[in-house]
Amino acid sequence: MNFKAMTDDERWDAVQARDKAQDGRFVTGVLTTGIYCRPSCAARHPLRQNVRFFPDGDAARATGLRPCKRCLPDDVARDENAVIKAIAAIKGSEEPLALADLARRTGYSPTHFQRVFTRHTGLSPAAYARALRDERARQALSEGSRVTDAIYDAGFSGPSRFYGNMEGRMGMTASAWVNGGKGATIHWAVVPTSLGEMLVAATGKGVCRLSFAEGREALEERFPAADLVEGGEEFSALLKQVIAAVEAPVNGFDHIPIDVKGTAFQEAVWRELRKIPAGETRSYSDIAAAVGKPNAVRAAGSANGANNVAVLIPCHRVVRSDGTLGGYAYGLPIKEELLKRESF
Ligand SMILES: [Zn+2]
Repeated sequence: MNFKAMTDDERWDAVQARDKAQDGRFVTGVLTTGIYCRPSCAARHPLRQNVRFFPDGDAARATGLRPCKRCLPDDVARDENAVIKAIAAIKGSEEPLALADLARRTGYSPTHFQRVFTRHTGLSPAAYARALRDERARQALSEGSRVTDAIYDAGFSGPSRFYGNMEGRMGMTASAWVNGGKGATIHWAVVPTSLGEMLVAATGKGVCRLSFAEGREALEERFPAADLVEGGEEFSALLKQVIAAVEAPVNGFDHIPIDVKGTAFQEAVWRELRKIPAGETRSYSDIAAAVGKPNAVRAAGSANGANNVAVLIPCHRVVRSDGTLGGYAYGLPIKEELLKRESF
């Protein structure tokens, strides 16, 4: 499609939708800030009256505009090539590839590469590789081969990793969430963070509660029959990962196992929330549409609010359609701060 084939109204719609498919087809100049962006830029949208569209960066620069430091509009082709190259490398590798290794192959820094890859695919490189392995394992299993063959065929380094992966999957582990947690041991701690006191609780399968300004009582309410143990050695290791993820969300949350259980609809919503890349937001109607129930906007909002694991299931990335923050269980300042630190 050439520049003239689209109207400015269509371009503005693409900008509103942060449509990645339009990246490289035009750039959005913002007269008030003096910068130009790719259509999908994750930054807050400018007012329509301050926007002018240009076919490319050259045309925008000719009027004195500078490229946005956040979405790097002049790098679209380079980014696409980097992502294509990385996907080929991931698909062709027997072993999981380290982020640094993938980044080196594309000539980007690891942090930048992670951001570019996630923007294009909706998944971090690690999550992409994991999804690919899961898919291959499922295919192999359904063809009737033995489980262990399937595991090795799919490129896992060994059976323990495979089962570890499966257990960490949301919605597949329910032990602590039935009968008030009877028979389950839940380790927990309240730790000071830059967002205030944070409660973290976990079963042997993953984090089952993450919240702010709560203590043991909140856990007793949810898991009246569980054995609540403060601290613990293995739990400390997990706790450290959680604190690091909350304080510096650069590497995403995918590596931290979660143990939650909800209705099928709630779990579908929570899974969608986990797919929103850091630095981006969705509206409640986006989420309703993503789970195949475009009219269930209010129900999507309730499922969002019923999330037991704040931050790691990033319900803070859902905002109102008009761009205002909407609500947050632990207060808007925490939501605002989380979004701010994810905007890199
Ligand atoms: Zn931008």
